[in-house]
Amino acid sequence: MKSLILTLLYIFSCATSAYTILIDPGHGGEDEGARARYYFAKKKWRLIKEKDIALSLAKMIHEELGKKNFNTYLTRSVDRTVTLAERAEIAEKIKADLFISVHINSSEGNAPRGFETYYLDNHEDSAIKKVEQVENKDLTGKELIVNKILTDLVIERTVKSSKGLASSIHSNIQVLVGKRYKLIDRGVKPGLFYVLALTKRPGILLEVGFLSNSRELMKLLDEKFQRRYAVAVAKGISDYIKMQNKFEPALL
Ligand SMILES: [Zn+2]
Repeated sequence: MKSLILTLLYIFSCATSAYTILIDPGHGGEDEGARARYYFAKKKWRLIKEKDIALSLAKMIHEELGKKNFNTYLTRSVDRTVTLAERAEIAEKIKADLFISVHINSSEGNAPRGFETYYLDNHEDSAIKKVEQVENKDLTGKELIVNKILTDLVIERTVKSSKGLASSIHSNIQVLVGKRYKLIDRGVKPGLFYVLALTKRPGILLEVGFLSNSRELMKLLDEKFQRRYAVAVAKGISDYIKMQNKFEPALL
């Protein structure tokens, strides 16, 4: 009996670690993403860039997944330009099972705040269209081959898994980070993000918070906040995979 349990445990650990997860820090290099001024002392300020917070958070998520024995990769580990098509190529090369893109939100006013989680799907929401405009803006030339038909096919193939993954990660963020830091839960939402369409696999795009909100920016820059957020994302991914294995014993 004991050896059977040990065998099952071994098979299960292989099944979880067999997943390859690609973490994608948004933007990088010439593409700085959103920017904000952060006042840290009287009349002293520093320019904060979305690409830097995204990289720091992505590295922590990568570390936390490593602790759970997942095969995990980053689309960039330094500040460099990576096109959306190149991110998709990396996903293909490493045969990623799941794709997690990390972004920081921004708005014209100081008021909007909170975290939201996107998966690839169609929608008619004008507020979401504004977020898409920001995250899709470096799309040029041949990257535009992502036409509607391809996007629809990817949606059809991935929407169920991506939505499940998004819900698992989002609820873990709410429980492990949201309550402690009094974050507003803006929900799990459908969005047409080309980085998700191009990678053609179950994936999500995280908007961690608003750097245009000065109070939220303080939290986003806090290393403890970032670590907790990374732990929550890693737990959300591992919970999702456990659920998959539970309902699809063939994977074992
Ligand atoms: Zn972004």
